[in-house]
Amino acid sequence: MSCLFCRIIAGEIPGSRVYEDAELVAFDDIHPQAPMHVLIVPRVHVPTLNEVDPSHDALVGSMIRRAAAIAAERGYAEGGYRTVFNCNAQAGQTVFHIHLHLLGGRTLAWPPG
Ligand code: AMP
Ligand code: ZN
Repeated sequence: MSCLFCRIIAGEIPGSRVYEDAELVAFDDIHPQAPMHVLIVPRVHVPTLNEVDPSHDALVGSMIRRAAAIAAERGYAEGGYRTVFNCNAQAGQTVFHIHLHLLGGRTLAWPPG
């Protein structure tokens, strides 16, 4: 299995898991860009947002709602937080297994770099 996130999900590579269920795993980003930087990752391997199809609609909804729940647990619901899907090279995607970044705990600039 060559995909880094598939290997983390399988438990072959240690990660700091913050949540898991039958369809999702969430773990801390190894290079956090904010005090909270969690990755919400589906167990199913989908390389990029371009391969998301209608069969994934409920899954993507669960990812977004899980991000909101983790942000709320950590006290960021009212102050604010950011969720990001990077897609392909020009957006800086480096791991080709879709993941939702959840960032919070500092003021985040807009537009992003
Ligand atoms: P992206 O650039 O959107 O593909 O995001 C990939 C993210 O995965 C980056 O923020 C990396 O810091 C993070 N990352 C890479 N390797 C690991 C790892 N072993 N454990 C946790 N996060 C990782
Ligand atoms: Zn994968």
